[in-house]
Amino acid sequence: MRQKILSLTLIFAIAFCALAQQKRADESMPGTERLRAHVSYLASDKLDGRRTGSAGANMAAEYVAREFARYGLRRSVGRDLPGMSIVEADSPRRYMQEFPFVAGVELGKNNSMLFTSRSEAAATAPGETPPTHSSARAASLDLRVGEDWMPLGFSSNKNLAATPVAFISYGIKADELKYNDYAGAQVKNNIAVALAGTPDGDNPHGQFARYADVRWKAIAAREQGAAALVVITREENFKDDPLSRLSFDNSAGEAGLPVVVISRQVAQRLLESEGLAPLSELEKAASTARSAASTTTADTTAGKASGENRKNIAASLQNVTLSIKTDIARRNTPAYNVVGILEGSDPVLKKEAIVIGAHYDHLGRGGSGSLATREGDIHHGADDNASGVAGMLELARIFSAERAKTKRTLVFIAFSGEEEGLLGSNYYVNHPIVPLGQTVAMINMDMIGRMKENKLMIGGVGTARQWRDWIQAENIKAETSRTPEGFKAARSIDQFTLSLNEDGYGPSDHSSFYAKQIPVLFFFTGTHDDYHKPTDTAEKVNYDDERRILFFIAGLLRSIDAAAPRRPTYTTAKSESQGRSMGFRVYLGTIPNYGGSSDGLKLDGVREDSPAAKAGMKANDRIVRMAGREVRNVYDYTYALGEMKAGQEYEVEVVRGSETLKLKITPAARRQ
Ligand SMILES: [Zn+2]
Ligand SMILES: [Zn+2]
Repeated sequence: MRQKILSLTLIFAIAFCALAQQKRADESMPGTERLRAHVSYLASDKLDGRRTGSAGANMAAEYVAREFARYGLRRSVGRDLPGMSIVEADSPRRYMQEFPFVAGVELGKNNSMLFTSRSEAAATAPGETPPTHSSARAASLDLRVGEDWMPLGFSSNKNLAATPVAFISYGIKADELKYNDYAGAQVKNNIAVALAGTPDGDNPHGQFARYADVRWKAIAAREQGAAALVVITREENFKDDPLSRLSFDNSAGEAGLPVVVISRQVAQRLLESEGLAPLSELEKAASTARSAASTTTADTTAGKASGENRKNIAASLQNVTLSIKTDIARRNTPAYNVVGILEGSDPVLKKEAIVIGAHYDHLGRGGSGSLATREGDIHHGADDNASGVAGMLELARIFSAERAKTKRTLVFIAFSGEEEGLLGSNYYVNHPIVPLGQTVAMINMDMIGRMKENKLMIGGVGTARQWRDWIQAENIKAETSRTPEGFKAARSIDQFTLSLNEDGYGPSDHSSFYAKQIPVLFFFTGTHDDYHKPTDTAEKVNYDDERRILFFIAGLLRSIDAAAPRRPTYTTAKSESQGRSMGFRVYLGTIPNYGGSSDGLKLDGVREDSPAAKAGMKANDRIVRMAGREVRNVYDYTYALGEMKAGQEYEVEVVRGSETLKLKITPAARRQ
């Protein structure tokens, strides 16, 4: 009996061992079903598109935090304190790094706009609401916010008492097109009134296309000393006009002056009250002025006519004033990066870290960044970037399950605010959990779920000397074949068709790290028809190929670890020139920080041998003036850039620490 029991125990023991081994093998590898489960949850309707700052995004953050807890990753926020309850100490929130975020803007209580005319005509002005007579010869009209007018999301809050107005056609000043709507207009300290759009209409390829944005018009108005900018909408029905809807862009800050839109009906009433031609004729005249501007001889009849026309309008508007009070309330909502730490096994090298990141935020129900034809549908973001988050989680799981831990510490991060302009990663590099000097590399995964034809794109290959070799080595897979003598390696084949890109900058979170001179790698399987649309859904993700990519990345991480204590050697990568899509003709070599600011444009870096480097500009400098223009944010900067010419010297004013420096910069011609 005893013997029998013993052998039974043995059998059980053997069976258990085999089972355990099977289980361990399973745990040490990325799993297709696990990836599918992560993506299916993150991209589900319940999470509502995970727009930064939303409840759905916070649920995604919580999900990642709970997974981190299951893998036993160390919490990154706060410390265990004596007397702390287990609930507090183990809270998933302790994986969450909070950063400030403006989730939106809304109207405050103090918005008002009053139109006053002292002319004869005003007293008998037609309109649905008869003007109230405040004196024998003055008429005033109280405009209703939301119905007749609306402040824009980036407008400054101000209270302007009755201020004269100046009509400025489209409010465009384009030096290189020799076009200036401000010529001869009395704008200083007055309220500039402009038409929406450009003399080219809506033509996206027209020569004025890049001046159409109200942002540019606001900058031009501010540069000219206007007290405020009022734009007349184009849609007949005010509420149909996109400008009448409040929206806010986190990466750009505020305009520096009140900027509002008024309905066409209000504009019409204003013109009628002064006995002027209807709005449609004014618009026709404004676009005629354009043909005058673009012909070589300025002395054309059209030019003269438009000049005359403008003088007439200016004279007629003499009696008009506007009082404007703007009150925009910014809705500050915290957003979160989720950071989990797997401590390294080497007593010295564990002070160094490798960051493995993927953003979890997406586009919510559309709006800014969406390529959908309409707003309101859930943008599931399965490939972008539930796929990357699932990959990051699987790497966290397998590395924490491994008995032989990596020598260096691994920092796993799910970033937020990526779609709004790399806000989360930008915050992290300025508030790192492991000091950046000890961060030896950053691996980013953004859209790794839709591999086609075995093609894997890797960016940042030029950011460390060893990257190319390690990537090539990892890509060669020994194919085994069975022979009568047993298994043997038959030949080596490439696992993936690699498409390598040198640049460390790109449209995702690795950019924030490369800007701090950290070697980066960016994994990406390419774009597709569902990109940034509601149709980017979980069932379209190719989980088998994603799993193979994760094997590859895990292998690379082991290569980095095997080379320790040697670090990947940082190198400056060859770069695609930035801003090309905006059609600038000059190149400075600055690397702007796209995090929001209103007190100048902060630089993350300066490219080697670039005009900016030659001018003596450095990382962390804040540009406050350039080429004679005030620079408060990235829009101002881009505006100034658009007016600069290659080969000409300009003054640029930067704030470095407590000093303000005046430097000279000579832009280079952009290679087209
Ligand atoms: Zn993405
Ligand atoms: Zn995206």
